[in-house]
Amino acid sequence: MSRNQNLPVVAFIGLGGNVGDPIATLRSALHRLMTVPRSRFLGASRFYRTPAWGERDQADFVNAVAAIETALAPKALLDELLGIERQFGRQRDSEAGVRWGPRTLDLDILLYGATSLDTAGLTLPHPHLHERAFALVPLLELVDDIDIPGRGSARGALTRLDRSGIQPLAER
Ligand code: AMP
Repeated sequence: MSRNQNLPVVAFIGLGGNVGDPIATLRSALHRLMTVPRSRFLGASRFYRTPAWGERDQADFVNAVAAIETALAPKALLDELLGIERQFGRQRDSEAGVRWGPRTLDLDILLYGATSLDTAGLTLPHPHLHERAFALVPLLELVDDIDIPGRGSARGALTRLDRSGIQPLAER
């Protein structure tokens, strides 16, 4: 039985997209995050336009981070997020009659309290959080600083990264 089955934990969710209308997608995704069972939506960062990470030959991303308090176990929370991702893919397919790529909406659990976990389907904290300014910048809008288990402080991690090109958007 999970240690956190009943005790609410604060989890930080990374949102991203670069296909279609990512601002509208992230806006709708935030509304869906408000309805996750056994959870309370605490708030979200501004939206940021960020250069594509890794595979650079693609459109800029829009990224944000949301905080929720949840009594769901980590795997149950991930399942909720994967359900939301799938819903957006399908919705856009049928509405627009266009086949969208898988990056219409990407939802990641960045942090789940102070939990460290490494299973086939879920790694916590998110294995790339400490090296992605596009996740750390919006995260640090929600908290002054936070420990990334095994990686030290989030603010410390950000000082080692290039954050140029990560621009807050006026819209949300
Ligand atoms: P990607 O599309 O690259 O974000 O990968 C999605 C897959 O990564 C999901 O199906 C999860 O099983 C796996 N995964 C592992 N750790 C995490 C995490 N902390 N948050 C979200 N997905 C994760």
